[in-house]
Amino acid sequence: MRRTQQIKTPDKIIEFLGRENRIYPARNTMGYSVSALLGCPRKAFFQKTRTSFEKIDLTQVEDNIWRTTRGNFLHQITQAYSWNELEGKYTVSINGEDIPVFGRLDCYDPEEKNIIEFKTMDNVSKSTSEGLLPFDSHIKQIQIYGTIFENIIPVEKLTIVYLDMNDVVSFEIQKEDMSNWIISKVTAIENAIKSKEMPDGQVNSFCKLCNYQTTCSNNKNGIEKPLSVLEARRR
Ligand code: SF4
Repeated sequence: MRRTQQIKTPDKIIEFLGRENRIYPARNTMGYSVSALLGCPRKAFFQKTRTSFEKIDLTQVEDNIWRTTRGNFLHQITQAYSWNELEGKYTVSINGEDIPVFGRLDCYDPEEKNIIEFKTMDNVSKSTSEGLLPFDSHIKQIQIYGTIFENIIPVEKLTIVYLDMNDVVSFEIQKEDMSNWIISKVTAIENAIKSKEMPDGQVNSFCKLCNYQTTCSNNKNGIEKPLSVLEARRR
């Protein structure tokens, strides 16, 4: 007879996964990251206005943080190219103020002038056969990178590579000028900050990992109640 039993995952493992997920908010009050612009506008508003943030109970988000960390391990494939993890800055002028938008490329192939973005997910081949890939949000993201980096390096191609533990599937994405999209996103958040009017939340599967769950839930058009908060307030 087997004498084993399932136990809770050791704390050190959970803490490591939390650190790998950069579970605490970036205090980039200077500008915006591409992921902040693509994500929930209310969360970007909280980050920019230095709203107090909350500590998340990592044991409640174990699945999410393991999935992301597993993705980070697979991201080591970026070493296939000598140009990887490139940072770029794009400046937009809003109400007479220059505001930087920062992007970071997974990798770039200078021979093909190709920006390559890696995405890890479950069951790549099933999603491909069902016609779900590439996701619209991923297309938009790489097109934004194309717009940001075009002023820095030559860009002729955009490629998204999907990876899981079994498969690799790649898609070529059409270039598109996303300047107007970037300007309208930054303008909307900047105007919300100026008028002190909190934007609506974009409730999504990452809300559990959001450090502003209590403040969000205390205001309408966000989450109804905190989902994974360990400590209510934190500076
Ligand atoms: S909890 Fe969700 S909806 Fe609320 S600010 Fe965070 S990401 Fe946005």
